[in-house]
Amino acid sequence: MLELLRRQVGPDVPSGAAYSFRKPGQWPAHVWQIDGEEELYYGIVSYPTACDAPGWLSAGEVSDASRALRVLEAACDCVEPWGPGLEALQCWFWTPYSLCAEKWTLDRPAAALAGDAAHLLSPLGGFGMNLGVGDAASLGWRLAAVLNGWLEPGAALSGYEAERREAWARCDAYVVAERARLMGGKAYVPPLGRGGAYETALLGPCVNGQAVVGHRLPHFPGVRLETRGVTLLLVNGGEDLVAAIAPAFVAACGRIGVPCRTCIVDGAQPAVAVAFGGNRLAICRPDAVVTFLGAAACLPEAVVEEAGLAAEALLLGEKVAP
Ligand SMILES: Cc1cc2nc3c(=O)[nH]c(=O)nc-3n(C[C@H](O)[C@H](O)[C@H](O)COP(=O)(O)OP(=O)(O)OC[C@H]3O[C@@H](n4cnc5c(N)ncnc54)[C@H](O)[C@@H]3O)c2cc1C
Repeated sequence: MLELLRRQVGPDVPSGAAYSFRKPGQWPAHVWQIDGEEELYYGIVSYPTACDAPGWLSAGEVSDASRALRVLEAACDCVEPWGPGLEALQCWFWTPYSLCAEKWTLDRPAAALAGDAAHLLSPLGGFGMNLGVGDAASLGWRLAAVLNGWLEPGAALSGYEAERREAWARCDAYVVAERARLMGGKAYVPPLGRGGAYETALLGPCVNGQAVVGHRLPHFPGVRLETRGVTLLLVNGGEDLVAAIAPAFVAACGRIGVPCRTCIVDGAQPAVAVAFGGNRLAICRPDAVVTFLGAAACLPEAVVEEAGLAAEALLLGEKVAP
C-alpha cells in the first residue's frame, strides 16, 4: 500500500497520513493510514446520492469486502492493485445524515439523550464520537450534581440541550460545507498529515483565546481545574486577591458540599491578558466551562450571601427560578 501511495502521491509520503483523491470521472476518495505502522488502512469513496454508487453496494451486499476494495482502487485511479498481501477486512455502506433530536431532556423522570441518539452527522471530519464524548462531559457533572444533592434535576439539565445542540450545529455546518466542497472540487487535494488542526475549535470552543461565560476556558500551562467541582481563578495583579476572595468562595462551596479549588494565574503573561482582559475573577464548572467572570475583586452575590442559590451561581452561572 505504501509503495502504491508513493507512486500516486510522490516520494515524501509521511507515516500516518491521510490522502484525498479526486480523479476525472470518479467521485472523491480518501485513504487513511490508521495504525502508524503502515499496516492498517481505511478508505472511503463518497457518492453524492445512493443512486451514484454501484447497485450491489447500495443494496447492502457488502459481504465481499474485496469487491469494495476494487471500487476504492478505481476511485484512487490505481492502474495496478494495491500490492500483494493486502487483505480487505470489512466494508460498509452508510448514508451521511444531518439530524438532531427535537427534545433532548425530560425533567420527570429526569432523562437526557446523548451521542448518536441525540444527533447524527456525516463522518467527514470525525466529529460524531467526539460530540458524543462532549455530551457525556456536559451531562456527567450535571448528573453528579443531582446525585450529590447540589441541584434539582430541572436546574441541572437546564442549558444542556442548548449548549450541545450548538456544538452539533457548528460541526454539522462545517461537514455540510466541506462535503459540498469535496463533491464539487475538481482538483486533487494534497495529503494531510496525522494530527491536522482545524482553523477553529468546532467541538467545544473557547473564543479566540478569551475567557467567555458559557464557553470553555482557554488552556493555560500549569493551571489545574477541579474536575469534580468548581474552580475559582484569580488573575494576579499584585495585591493578595486570594486572601480577599478565596475564604468566601471556599465557605460557599463547603455549605453545599461542592469540591473546590482556587487557582492563581499570572496576569503578566500575554495569553492570560488576552483571555481575561479587564477581568480579575473567573469561576469554572467541572467541564472547564466558565460560569462567572468578574472585573472587580468580588464574587457573585448569590455565592456570598444566599446559600440556597450558591450551587446555581457556581455551576450554572445563573439564578434558576424555584
Ligand atoms: C464510517 C464512519 C466513520 C466514523 N468516524 C468517526 C471518527 O473518525 N471520529 C468520530 O468522532 N466519530 C466517527 N464516527 C461516528 C461515531 O462512530 C459515532 O458517532 C459513535 O459511534 C456514536 O456512539 P454512541 O455511543 O452515541 O452510539 P452507538 O455507537 O450507536 O451505540 C449505541 C449502542 O446502543 C445499543 N442499543 C441500541 N438500542 C438498544 C436497546 N434498546 N437496549 C440496549 N442497547 C441498545 C446499540 O447496539 C449500540 O451498541 C464515524 C461513523 C461512521 C459511520
